Amino acid sequence: MIIAGNWKMNHTRAQVAGFCASVKAAGRPLDGACRMVLFPAFVHLADLASQLSGSSVSWGGQTCHMAEKGAHTGNISAAMLADMGASWVLLGHSERRVEHGETDLAVAASLAAGRQAGLSIMLCVGESQAEREAGQAEQVVRAQLAGSLAGSLGGSLGGSSGWQAGQLAIAYEPVWAIGTGLVPQLSDIEAMHSLIADAAQQLTGLADLPVLYGGSVNPANAADILQLASVSGALVGGASLKADDFLAIFDAGLAVCDAKG
Ligand code: PEP
Repeated sequence: MIIAGNWKMNHTRAQVAGFCASVKAAGRPLDGACRMVLFPAFVHLADLASQLSGSSVSWGGQTCHMAEKGAHTGNISAAMLADMGASWVLLGHSERRVEHGETDLAVAASLAAGRQAGLSIMLCVGESQAEREAGQAEQVVRAQLAGSLAGSLGGSLGGSSGWQAGQLAIAYEPVWAIGTGLVPQLSDIEAMHSLIADAAQQLTGLADLPVLYGGSVNPANAADILQLASVSGALVGGASLKADDFLAIFDAGLAVCDAKG
């Protein structure tokens, strides 16, 4: 189980310090079956790294460039994230796809760079409202997976070695559920997660790939979503900004881990 927080373009340094202090003071088990991952803004990575050092919270960047280094003003490479001590990179978030025009091909190239740098990848996929209404949700998600994981069995975009367990998680984030308070029917989440697990296994050879749900997860709905058999965690935006809310979601994950044994 992975409970991940995507802070997007939020927080001051003081808020980051306060959040980290609250997580440490809460004393939750962070190295068991339920893991915590944080994706702060790049400018907060160094503070987060020092404030969480010695804890079992993992963290990473919200995206990375496909190149290792060079003339790419405003960008951050996967190698830079790894050099900071990051263990994850979030890729293909719908806000990157929409605001920055990131295509599946670009995501695939960044994913290859992330793997090359030794980072674990959290890959976001999900359909828009129009696509769901048009009955195209499954087709869109399949295409995003195929495009973003292109070459992942060893082609030029995916690197030369096979995937290893723990290197990849997929976050199913229906775009219409992000920040809206809307959440799909639990049966729709189950269906899409099963599809994603099957498709991703075919593309990567990885069995038991974690598939997280993201989109308006909060302390009130987390338990219902996390207890679904095909859900192995949550990617949380808005509700990850307050430590109390995020810890409540993490607690729901802990309880589900206990119940699932
Ligand atoms: C997200 O953007 O990754 C997300 C899940 O946001 P929210 O939880 O605010 O819907």
